[in-house]
Amino acid sequence: MQSSTDFTERSSQDTSGLPRFPKPTSTPAAGATVGGTPAHSMTSSFATPAPRDSLARLVFELSKLPGIGEKSATRLAYFILKTEGSYAQDLAQAILAARDKIHLCSQCFAFTDVEPCANCSDPARESRTICVVERPSDLLPVERSGTFRGRYHVLHGVLSPLDGVGPDELKISGLLARLNTGAIEEVILAINPSVEGDATAMYLSRLIRPLGIRVSRLAHGIPVGGQLEFTDRQTLARAIENRMEVR
Ligand SMILES: [Zn+2]
Repeated sequence: MQSSTDFTERSSQDTSGLPRFPKPTSTPAAGATVGGTPAHSMTSSFATPAPRDSLARLVFELSKLPGIGEKSATRLAYFILKTEGSYAQDLAQAILAARDKIHLCSQCFAFTDVEPCANCSDPARESRTICVVERPSDLLPVERSGTFRGRYHVLHGVLSPLDGVGPDELKISGLLARLNTGAIEEVILAINPSVEGDATAMYLSRLIRPLGIRVSRLAHGIPVGGQLEFTDRQTLARAIENRMEVR
């Protein structure tokens, strides 16, 4: 029987003893939607069959996580195996509990384990402004900025025809339904500046403006603490285009 010490030694020396397998490649495109179902279905299909060996299987499953290559997955697997106590069980239960309980808020489509989510049900938040973001993970940085106290709407991607992501794959109809209540005065498009993001912002703006709702977009420019010398050409061009009058 292999002891935890063995795992440690193998981990620190060489990982080549493990069966090698290609990192799964069938992950969804960056702009892909989760549709009307919980986002868990995003990682449903991987073409490569899971290895039978327990350790190799753990590495295989961990390497499916975004940003985790085979080396990192191997390091994580050894960490889990050599950690004392009930860590492995706690981790597995936390993953399963999150998967079972967390779903998309019916109003803003953010991840939540209550319905509606805390943002949508908070009476202290300003309800005439909606900040539209690409992904659920984009909510946190906007919240951390401390400057926005309105409501949110998560698109779950951006328009990307090459990846098969059209308006129907995003949460656009849900956004329009919220806007058609007449209670919204401004929509802030906090969509990432990219070709697809720009096209999505343009598309949404054309849909929303006729409703008599103000549409704004996050300014693009020089980061705080940045220097012109090290700013890329596109960012600087946008900063010049979006220059502000000094008052
Ligand atoms: Zn919500």
